[in-house]
Amino acid sequence: MRPPVCAICDVDLEENEGGVIYYKKRFSDKVWDRKMNRINGVGHPPYAEWFCGKHYDRAKELEDLTIDKALTKIREEEDEK
Ligand SMILES: [Zn+2]
Repeated sequence: MRPPVCAICDVDLEENEGGVIYYKKRFSDKVWDRKMNRINGVGHPPYAEWFCGKHYDRAKELEDLTIDKALTKIREEEDEK
């Protein structure tokens, strides 16, 4: 896992703030999983991201989307605020 920074607003997360959301896997994400299994690799999954306390709830509501769609949607909503 990379250091916890919110995928939307890029703030460093405090301990116990926000969390990781695992999104629906795209084809490329399933390929990544397979590759990591094969080489016994570890890394930050491309379908997972950290979110701060402010963005976590909305990010969680969208976890049935793929990560690219969810992030685009949240960023658009932030622009409209
Ligand atoms: Zn945030």
